[in-house]
Amino acid sequence: MVDLRGQYLRIKDEVDSAVMRVIDQTAFIGGPAVKEFAAHLEEYLGAPHVIPCANGTDALQISLMALDLKPGDEVIVPAFTYVASAEVIGLLGLTPVMVDVDPRTFNICIDALPGALSARTKAIIPVHLFGQSCDMEPLLAFAREHNLYVIEDNAQAIGAEYTFSDGRRAKTGTMGTIGCTSFFPSKNLGCYGDGGAMITSDDQLAEKLRMIANHGQRVKYHHDVIGCNSRLDTLQAAVLDIKLRHLDEYCAARAAAAAYYTARFKEFDPEERYLQVPVQSPCSTHVYHQFTIKVNSGRRDDLKSFLAERGIPSMVYYPLPLQHQEAFKHITRSAGSLENSSECSSCVLSLPMHTELTTAIQDRIIEAVISFFH
Ligand SMILES: *Cc1c(COP(=O)(O)O)cnc(C)c1O
Repeated sequence: MVDLRGQYLRIKDEVDSAVMRVIDQTAFIGGPAVKEFAAHLEEYLGAPHVIPCANGTDALQISLMALDLKPGDEVIVPAFTYVASAEVIGLLGLTPVMVDVDPRTFNICIDALPGALSARTKAIIPVHLFGQSCDMEPLLAFAREHNLYVIEDNAQAIGAEYTFSDGRRAKTGTMGTIGCTSFFPSKNLGCYGDGGAMITSDDQLAEKLRMIANHGQRVKYHHDVIGCNSRLDTLQAAVLDIKLRHLDEYCAARAAAAAYYTARFKEFDPEERYLQVPVQSPCSTHVYHQFTIKVNSGRRDDLKSFLAERGIPSMVYYPLPLQHQEAFKHITRSAGSLENSSECSSCVLSLPMHTELTTAIQDRIIEAVISFFH
């Protein structure tokens, strides 16, 4: 699905010397690379504050903690997403309110938001799934109208750009109250272990997020609030600082691979009788964290097995929407139909997508898919 080794080998010299420098300095926690990387990411995103933390799930949790929500307060989240987006809501004793996704973009359905609202609604977590932005302009307008916080789950879309109707552009993760991202190795900006960050333009909130991630203390051993211990290792920051310089190249390589898959599948199946290629939203660029097709006629699992027999990996992200997960059954309020989420779970298939794909590798994958349908 990914080729982390191939990607490493192309930047081996840079990475090795950065890692050796950290080891040499033995500043494993809170070393200079952490601040340097955060500053470079602020610059890249055009955001005033990037607060690094231990992983993307912590970023979401700390964000919710910083907003002073009370048990029973409701947070709107799409039903078709990675579990972390909703897990943190439940963990803090808040109520996840699940809404459906747009079956073309896999992102939160804006029309479903009004039906999800109650007197206890406090926040929305839009997830920029698979690499493109949710339709943020109407979502932000809705949030403003109803006084809701917006926490963007940007774990899969770092580098993607949203265009507002007046032509203004913004990077995903910088539009809401707080943006959260993950540096898990297979993410578009991945480190060599776990890592994550929060993004905000609010100075006071930045300070609070920093404090919560550091045991609720501003001054060492003086604890103002209950916090947690969530840090980005210096070694990971050093790796990320190198990889950030290559992020735009990485996005371009993914987009080129996606364009090739799309062109070949459209040529094979112009009427989409067998499969549907990803639909690119008109208001966002797509950084293709995943290249996710929809397989028609209930044949997804058969195609997946067929590919596996030929040594070609593929993955189902995600096989069970949140409303059907045991852990969520008793804590969730569902709002409206979630049929698109169920439908997506039954037919999506993600094909290998990474920065090291060659046309030759893609041809093997594409030809195997085509031969399945013939
Ligand atoms: C990866 C991911 C997360 C969590 O990130 P971790 O670093 O693994 O904790 C959250 N949300 C989404 C959509 C993700 O893909």
